[in-house]
Amino acid sequence: MATKYIFITGGVISTLGKGITSASIAALLQAKGYRVTCVKCDAYVNIDAGTMNPTEHGEVFVTSDGVETDQDVGSYERFLNRRLSKLNYLTTGQIYQKVIERERNLEYGGKCVEVVPHVPEEIIRRLKQAAVADKAEVVLAEIGGTVGEYQNVLFLEADRLLKRESPGNVINVHVSYLPIPATVGEMKTKPVQYSIRTLQSTGIQPEFVVGRSSLPLDERRKEKIAVFGNVDIKNIISDPDVSSIYQVPLIFEEQAFAERIIKLLGLPKRGKPTGARLSDWQKLVKKIAEVSEPVKIGIVGKYFDTGDFVLEDSYISIIEAVKHASWSLSRKPEIQWIDSHEFEVSPANLKKLDGYDAIIVPGGFGSRGVEGKIKAIEYVREHKIPYLGLCYGMQLAVIEFARNVLHLPKANTEENDRQTPDPVIHILPEQKKLLAKHDYGATMRLGAYDCTLKKSSSVYKLYGSEKISERHRHRYEFNNDYRAKIEQAGLKVVGVNTERDLVEIVELEGHPFFVGVQFHPEFESRPLAPHPLFVGLIRAGIKS
Ligand code: GLN
Repeated sequence: MATKYIFITGGVISTLGKGITSASIAALLQAKGYRVTCVKCDAYVNIDAGTMNPTEHGEVFVTSDGVETDQDVGSYERFLNRRLSKLNYLTTGQIYQKVIERERNLEYGGKCVEVVPHVPEEIIRRLKQAAVADKAEVVLAEIGGTVGEYQNVLFLEADRLLKRESPGNVINVHVSYLPIPATVGEMKTKPVQYSIRTLQSTGIQPEFVVGRSSLPLDERRKEKIAVFGNVDIKNIISDPDVSSIYQVPLIFEEQAFAERIIKLLGLPKRGKPTGARLSDWQKLVKKIAEVSEPVKIGIVGKYFDTGDFVLEDSYISIIEAVKHASWSLSRKPEIQWIDSHEFEVSPANLKKLDGYDAIIVPGGFGSRGVEGKIKAIEYVREHKIPYLGLCYGMQLAVIEFARNVLHLPKANTEENDRQTPDPVIHILPEQKKLLAKHDYGATMRLGAYDCTLKKSSSVYKLYGSEKISERHRHRYEFNNDYRAKIEQAGLKVVGVNTERDLVEIVELEGHPFFVGVQFHPEFESRPLAPHPLFVGLIRAGIKS
C-alpha cells in the first residue's frame, strides 16, 4: 500500500491547537489499527528550536535521539504514547541546509537549483523518510503558522506537489477559527471562508475543515462553510473549547472524523489497535472529569513579564506530567507559579511554600532568580515539603546542600560563578571547548542516556527497574570531587550514567521526597503512562 499523507494547515489565527488536532487524529488512527507518524513543519530558518527563546516560542522539547524541537512534537508523543525522533521535526533551515549540501555534492546534475521545485522536493523526501523510519502507513504533516503567510508557502507547495504525484493518497485538513464577537454575540464563519479561499489560491482544496471556536458549530454554520469552501458538510468537524485536551480524540470520534479519513484514503479495514485503545482515552477523560480533591503543586522559577505570551507554554511538558500523575492518583492538580524573586526580596515570603503539597524547580539557564530558588529549596528541605528538582532544579539542590549542610558558603555552579572556590556543579569537559568556540547550536548534552539506579533507593522502587533511559539538555554536571562528602552528609547519589560516571539522580535521606534529576523526566510522561517520579512526588505530597 502506498503511504498516505494528511497535511494539517491553519487559518485565521495561530495557537488554534493544530498540534492537538494532528495528535488527536493520529491517536484515533492508532486506536483503529494503523501505523502513523506525525511531522511538525516549522517555517523558521532555525535548524532546530534549541536557539529559540522559550518565553517567546514555548517549550523546547527534546527527542530521545537528541534534537531540540517545537513543543508540538511533545504533544504528538503524549497522544501517540511513544517516542518519536529527529525525523518528526522539520524546519525551513534544515531543508535549505540539505539542498545546499546536495548542490555542493553535485547531486543536481549541473542543473540550476531552484526554490521551486527543489525545496518542496526536499520537503517531500524528508516526509517520506519519516514514514520509512517509523514504518508509518499514514504521515500527518502539520504545517506551522497560518495559510497566507509567505513563510510556509514552500511547505504548502510540497503538499500540492505530493497530492499531484499521488492523488488519492494525500488529503488536507484545514483548522480554522470562528470568532464570536462580543458586540455581535453570534459565531461568524467569514474568517473561515477567507482562510479556505487563501488555501485554495495555493492550489490546495481541503477535504476537511476543523472549526475551532469557543462553542460547537451548528448545522447552519457548517452549511455555510461547506457551500463557500466547497467541502462536504459531513467533513466539517466541530472542535469547541474543552476543559481537557485529551477530550479532543473523543470529540472527533463522535463525528466519525477518523472513519471518514480512512474511507477517503482507502485504507484497508483493521482491528487491533497499534497504540492506546479508544476505551483507554474514554477512561482517562472520565477520570479527569471525576477527580475533585485537589493537590497543590508550586513551580518555583524565574518569571518574566511575558506580555501576551502564555507562560504555561514554556513549561508544557512539566504541567502535563503533573496532571498525568495527579489524575492517576485520583487528584485534581492545582498548579501555581511562584516567582523565585519574591524569596530574594523577603525571606518571609518562604512561608507561602507551606501552602503547597509539593514543589518543583524546573530546568533553566543563567543566574536570574537563582538565589531565590536556592532559598526555596532550603526551605522545602528543612520543612520536609516534597521536592522534585528537574535539571537546573537538581543542580541548585546540590548547591543549596553544599552551602547549608556542608558549610561551603560560596558553593556554586560554574555557570553563574566561574571563580567559585567550590564548583559543586561544573562544566562538562566537552562543553568547555564548545563554549570557548561560541558553538551554541545543538551542542548541549542532548537526548536520552542510560542511567543505573541504586537498588536501595526510593527512585528504584518508583521505576521498578534498575536501568532507565531519560532525556537530557544541559552543559553542566555534578562535580564528582564533592560526591563522597555530599553523600556522607545525606544527599545520596542514587542514579549514575555508568558509561561516563555522571551523577544523574540525587535523593535526600530522611525526607518524605526530595529528589533531584539531571534529566528531564517530563518529556517521558504520558497521559496513559504517568512518569514514576511525578507519581512519587504527588503521592508524597498527598501523604504529607
Ligand atoms: N543550566 C544548566 C545546564 O546547562 C541546567 C540546564 C537545564 O535545566 N536544562 O547544565
